[in-house]
Formats: sequence, C-alpha cells, structure tokens
Amino acid sequence: MTKYTRGSFQLMKSINRSMILNMIREKGPISRAEIAKQTSLTPPTVSNIVKELIHTEFVIETTQGASKGGRKPTLLEINADNFYILGIDVGRYKMNIVVTNLYGALKDETVIPIPDYPSKEELIHSMKEGIHSMLNSSSHKRDKFVGIGVGMHGIVDPVNGISLFAPSFHLHDIPIKEELENDFQMIVKVENDARTMTLGEYWFGNGNDSDHLVGVNVGNGIGAGVMINGQLFHGEHNIAGEIGHVTIDLSGPKCTCGNYGCLQTFAAGPSIAERAKKELKTGKPSLIHELVDGDFEKVKGEIVYQAACEGDAFSIELLNQTGRYLGIGLTNLIHTLNPKRIIVGGGVANADHFLMKGIKETIQTRGLTAKAKDTSIIFSKLGNYASAIGACVLVLEDFFVSENGGSS
Ligand SMILES: [Zn+2]
Repeated sequence: MTKYTRGSFQLMKSINRSMILNMIREKGPISRAEIAKQTSLTPPTVSNIVKELIHTEFVIETTQGASKGGRKPTLLEINADNFYILGIDVGRYKMNIVVTNLYGALKDETVIPIPDYPSKEELIHSMKEGIHSMLNSSSHKRDKFVGIGVGMHGIVDPVNGISLFAPSFHLHDIPIKEELENDFQMIVKVENDARTMTLGEYWFGNGNDSDHLVGVNVGNGIGAGVMINGQLFHGEHNIAGEIGHVTIDLSGPKCTCGNYGCLQTFAAGPSIAERAKKELKTGKPSLIHELVDGDFEKVKGEIVYQAACEGDAFSIELLNQTGRYLGIGLTNLIHTLNPKRIIVGGGVANADHFLMKGIKETIQTRGLTAKAKDTSIIFSKLGNYASAIGACVLVLEDFFVSENGGSS
C-alpha cells in the first residue's frame, strides 16, 4: 500500500514536471508566477519543481523579461544546448544520424552506408558503429546525451522497440531497442520512419499548426505517418499508413511485397528509374543518355532529377507523371482520413517543384468536394533529415508532455 502511494506521488510529480517543462518550452522565457497561473499548479509546487529542473540543468534563469519598473523579473527558459539527443533514420542503403538539442536544432549530422541485405547482426553492428563514431566525434560530451531515437523503415513495434519487418532487408524481429540500450545505457525509442518524419514536422517543421496531419515519406519505398488529434496512429498491428502498398493498378508492375501495381511501383525512387530506363531503351531522346554514357544500369532517380533540373523535357515529364501517381495515393489518403495537411518528404521529395504540378492536378480532378480538392499539400521543411530529427522527438516527448497528457 505504501508502495502504491509512493508510486502515485512519483507519477504525479513526473507529470507536473513534464507539464512545467513543456510550458517553459512553448511559452518561455516565462516567470514562475505565470507558470502557476497557466498550469493551475500551486506556486510552491511550481517553485519546488523548478528548483529541481534548475539543479538538473534542464532549465536556466534569465532576466531578459520586460520590467514594469523596479527589478527585472526572473524568467525561466529551457537550457536547450545543455543536452542532446541522437536520432537515426535507417533507410535501405544508408542511415542518417543526427544530433539535436532540446529544441530540435540540428547540431551534427552524418551518413553511414548500410551493407546490401545485411543480417540482423550486421545491421545492429552498423547502427552501433555509427552511434559510437557520432558520440566520439561529436564536440558534445557523452553524459549530455539523454537518449537515442530510431526511425526504421517497415513495420515497427514502438512499445517494445522491435523492427517487426524490414522489407528492404528481408529481415524480421530485430530487437533494436534492447540491443542499443544494452550497449549505450540510455533511453532508446524506435518508431517507423514515416511516423518519425511526421512527428518531426509536427514539432519543428511544416506541421505545427495541424493536429490532423499525414506525412508521406517517398524514398526507396513509400510510407505514411498518420497523426490524429496530435497523436500518431498505429492501427491494431502497426500497419496503418502503409500506403506504398495500396494497389493503384491491378495490372501494374510487381512490387517487393509480392502484389502487383502498388503505389510504390509507380512513384518511389527505384520505380522512377525503372520507368525511365524502359522508355529510354525505346530510343526516346533525353539528356540522360549523355549523363550515364549510354549505360542504362546507371540510371537512378537522382539522375532523372538532375536531367530535369537541366531542362530535359523527357525527365520533366517523367517526374510530372510521378506527381500524378503520387496524387492518386494522396487523394486516397484525403478520402480515407480527411487530414488538414499532407506533408511530402523523403529523397524523392527533393524533386518537389517537378512533382507538385502533377500532384495538384490529380487532387483537383479526383477530390470529392471543393474542401477535399483544397487540402493543403506541402513539402517537408526538415528535408533529408526529417525522419532522423523526428526520431529525436521520440525522446523529447518523454520530457515534454502537454496539459492534456499528450505530446505537443
Ligand atoms: Zn507492394
């Protein structure tokens, strides 16, 4: 019984602490009195918790506030650059590793290659090596890191931190959280990469004014992070948002999942290259012939983008067509979820200005109502590091909780 009482006291204290931290994060610099007013906590409670936050160096005092005559008020703000989080985005061929401060500001970044079709052990080994090298090379002291967030492609169990299925590696049940926690002795959070991208945009990017949000990650595959009422939606078995495998053409190309005509067989990076190769082999004129010295094996999504940037009509039309395919996927999302905004990120999103025309045309043609046609479609603000920065947010969420108990 005593234990239970102590437990609830500790829990209450921890909720209050998160609430106060979040208030300082969102409204800071802010005074103790103002925090008490806005959180409805008593001034002594606020004062005690703030004392602890200052002692643990998460919060600092500042006197920059406006003075109404007399002494300047002492205000509080997050000691943003005193702690760091390491975020990893595990893609098919590489992982992006970033270090951010408590405000999600990018402090360091690196890219580590992943071996082709790694075993579980090889993948975990690459991740550990990457983290070690980042921690060692970083100018930030190791004891200032509060946690590691991982954005992993495929189906992820975020509660246990397990990658249930990573289709690009043909791997199942990779115990990422357990492995990294054992090695690095800090909190490790794991989530699907499209969801971390969405989370990153929601906290620090283009999604911060939308509680009904979908982030679509278009890279070597296509996935979506669905956010409803400010919370990521996982579905019953963490499959929600796998829009890359929504069928858009029954007689389309075969997908890595075994089905035919999935969205990602038309609009993901490798499929852009495949469509380009097929048409170039029929002799269509394009700058790409020159860029790859006639070697079609060298045709990649990036080359198509490069040619488009140099004004190549063939490549521009190919990306336009890709935009129209993506538009079909996004229209399906609009009709299923009716989000306020869809944010498109991932490697393919670098071709944003070539894709947007096709995306908008398709949604304009197919949207059910005027409001559906008007759904805000925007490209990622955090760019290539959106999923990795979002992975850091997985850790930040533990520190900052808003008054309704959800993350903000
Ligand atoms: Zn598929």
